[in-house]
Amino acid sequence: MIGRTRSIALAGLDGHLIDVEAHLAASLPAFTIVGLPDASLSEARDRVRAAVSSTGLPWPARRITVNLSPASLPKSGSVTDVAIAVAVLAASGLVVAGEAARAVHLGELGLDGRVRPIRGVLPAVAAAVASGATRVVVPLANVDEARLVPGADAVGVGSLAELAALYGNDKVRPSTIRPITDSPRHKSESDILDLADVRGQEEARWALEVAAAGGHHLLMVGPPGSGKTMLAARLPGILPDLGPDEAVVATSVHSIAGTFDPGAGLLRRPPFEAPHHSASAAAIVGGGSHLARPGAISRAHGGVLFLDEAPEFPSVVLQTLRQPLEKGEVVLHRSAGAARYPARFQLVMAANPCPCGHYSGTGERCSCTPMARRRYFARLSGPLLDRVDLQVDVRPVRRGMDEAGESSAVVAPRVAAAREAARERYRGLGWGTNSAASATWLRDRTSRGSLSALFRALDRGALSARGVDRALRVAWTLADLGGREAPGPDEVAQAMVLRTRGMPGVAA
Ligand SMILES: [Zn+2]
Repeated sequence: MIGRTRSIALAGLDGHLIDVEAHLAASLPAFTIVGLPDASLSEARDRVRAAVSSTGLPWPARRITVNLSPASLPKSGSVTDVAIAVAVLAASGLVVAGEAARAVHLGELGLDGRVRPIRGVLPAVAAAVASGATRVVVPLANVDEARLVPGADAVGVGSLAELAALYGNDKVRPSTIRPITDSPRHKSESDILDLADVRGQEEARWALEVAAAGGHHLLMVGPPGSGKTMLAARLPGILPDLGPDEAVVATSVHSIAGTFDPGAGLLRRPPFEAPHHSASAAAIVGGGSHLARPGAISRAHGGVLFLDEAPEFPSVVLQTLRQPLEKGEVVLHRSAGAARYPARFQLVMAANPCPCGHYSGTGERCSCTPMARRRYFARLSGPLLDRVDLQVDVRPVRRGMDEAGESSAVVAPRVAAAREAARERYRGLGWGTNSAASATWLRDRTSRGSLSALFRALDRGALSARGVDRALRVAWTLADLGGREAPGPDEVAQAMVLRTRGMPGVAA
């Protein structure tokens, strides 16, 4: 006797349909699962057997072999629990086989027969629907999330008993245990921070607006307490909403990470991730022992990754950022296979001017040696800083600098208008923002007069060749913000200021 059903295996955001087949033979009772990684095999076996017994259904006294195929696909054990139980029940005639075979089953089983919520329901259900399997049975706690996928016919079940009854078994005892209905909750989206809270800091606020308008990465250097963190946390609030496709991808990442609230629907606002420098590389970049989970850089996809005290991050972590900054994704290699996660984020880094934090002006309060100051910034390697278009100083807050600035609600429409102008210009070229545009393309459309200031700076050694390209991109963002067709000499001059901090030991 054979029972069949289906489930989904996720590798990164990519889901693959897997066939789950249970075969019962009249032989000595045994229970074998083929196609699961060894580490999760015995646990899956124990959970499924206990859940079936707790449900009041007889465990078949046969030789049971369950096969999950294709065997080559990486699988995480718990997600396929429900599918394995359904296949066994179908093979033993305890549920109607036809209906069970048509649906895709996702969910972990508790020993008491409850169906426990899992991570990654959104991308898994999306993969099922994409491969033509629209009928999806998911844990009750995940059903809101499953229904976010257009075209999904999602059913939420709280227990294996409920599922068996759904498939025509009228002998299961009604479940007396309370189903799990809570899904993981993310930080509320209502805590959007307002730029009006930042007092003074006109230059830094302007740099933030330029960063938002052009999608430019940003480095802020200033003493402790100058408000760098406050500023960075207010960048998402002036960025436009995520586009529909971007929202699905960003939400899928948070679904796997277990950091979103399905009750609130798809993520529409750009996320903000601020990992601490002491966090593990796996927490920042992604990883895990078996199947790799997304890290902060992927949870920041479509939004902002903020590295406070950036020079304090381990150099291996800073090095790893180069791949996502170039490709917009990260590939994590694990024994179970490679997982690919999107990681297109706007990078904001903050740094003190020196290890003691007090170097400024004449430097009289600073206790660091010039060597220590240089070393501190050298940790932010050239290749990384090369991708950061905006590098500005944030001055200490002084008395009298306490006038309230514009609110995010005033700044955001200017950012949106500038982004729209750039999108119009790059229609058909594949670049969304100035930060992604080709410098050669921009140079051909910039007047000779505007370019000459850049080339003079290059000749003087004040800008590197790459620095010229980055200042040019910023100049176009300034033109977009000013409602101009192309940057003039003023925009170019201002772009160079936003690019070249006067700090020692930092190459512009
Ligand atoms: Zn110092």
